[in-house]
Amino acid sequence: HAKNQGGSYQYYRPGMNRKSHDSWLLERELRKGLEREEFMVYYQPQMDIATGKIIGAEALIRWIHPEKGFVSPGEFIPLAEEIGLIVPLGNWVLDEACRQNKLWQEAGLPPIKIGVNLSFRQFIQQDLARTVADTLERTRLDSSYLDLEITESMTMEVERAMEVLAQLRSLGVSISMDDFGTGYSSLTHLTKFPIDKLKIDQSFVRNIIDGANDAAIAATIVTMAKNLKLKAIAEGVETDDQLQFLQRCGCDEIQGYWLSPPVPAEKFERLLASNSCV
Ligand code: C2E
Ligand code: CA
Ligand code: CA
Ligand code: CA
Repeated sequence: HAKNQGGSYQYYRPGMNRKSHDSWLLERELRKGLEREEFMVYYQPQMDIATGKIIGAEALIRWIHPEKGFVSPGEFIPLAEEIGLIVPLGNWVLDEACRQNKLWQEAGLPPIKIGVNLSFRQFIQQDLARTVADTLERTRLDSSYLDLEITESMTMEVERAMEVLAQLRSLGVSISMDDFGTGYSSLTHLTKFPIDKLKIDQSFVRNIIDGANDAAIAATIVTMAKNLKLKAIAEGVETDDQLQFLQRCGCDEIQGYWLSPPVPAEKFERLLASNSCV
C-alpha cells in the first residue's frame, strides 16, 4: 500500500506498533510537504585549498515543517528512500540546484560547480541519465558545472554501476564518491570506475589531529587519489589544525564549518560575491 509512489492512499491500521505509526505519520507529512513546497535547498561552499577560493557548493535539502520547523535530512531521507519518495524529492533538488547555479552565473558571479547527492533509488532508475540531461537542458546549465555525488554502496553491482556512470560522464558531468572510506567498495573496482573525486568522510577528518589512525587514513586517501589521478576533498573540516594537516597531505579541497555551514541561496550568493573565505 504505502509503497506506491505518487499515491495518496495510506491506511493507519489499528494494531500498528509505535514505530510504524510514527513513520506512517512522517510519511503522510512528507507527501504533504512535497505538495506544499516545504522544502528548500541550502548550499555549503567548497574551497580550493591552494587559492582559498570557493570553487563549488554542495546542495543539501532542508525541510521546513509548518509546526516542527527544521527537520534534519537524517530524519527524513532514510524514510523517503524507503518509500520511494526520494526520487521526486531528489529530482527536485537536482532541478533547483542547477537552476540556481545558472542564475548565479547569469548574475556574473564566479562560476562554480554544484554538487548534488544522488540516492540509491535515483541511481537505479533506468532513466537517470535522461533525467539529468533533461534537467541540464531545461535549466540551461552547462554540464561541466554539475557534480553528482554517489556512495560506495551504489557501486556494489559493478557492471550496472559502470554503465550508469559512463552514461552520466558522457553528458559531461563529474562524479564524486561521497563518504569515502566508510563503505565496502573494493579498491580494484575503484580504479576502474569513471569517477573524478573522492570525498574523505568527516568521521576521519574529525579525529585527524588526535587520532593517529584517522590521520593515517585521511593521508592515505589523499595519496591514493593522487595516484589514481582523482581529486580529494575533505568533508567536515572545522578547525585551523585540521585544515593545515590536510594542506600538508596535499588534499585539494575542503568543505566544512571552518568555511561555512550550509546556507540559503541568498546568503551563499554573498559569500560567492566576496569570494574570500580567508
Ligand atoms: P552528506 O552528503 O555526507 O552531507 C554532509 C553533511 O555534513 C551535511 O549534513 C552537512 O550539513 C554536514 N556538515 C558539513 N560540514 C560540517 C562540519 O564541519 N561539521 C559537521 N559536524 N557537519 C558538517 P546534512 O545537511 O544534515 O545532511 C545529512 C545527510 O543527508 C547528507 O550527508 C546526505 O546523505 C543526506 N542528504 C542531504 N540532502 C540530500 C539530498 O538532496 N538528496 C539525498 N539523496 N540525500 C541528501
Ligand atoms: Ca554528500
Ligand atoms: Ca558526505
Ligand atoms: Ca554522510
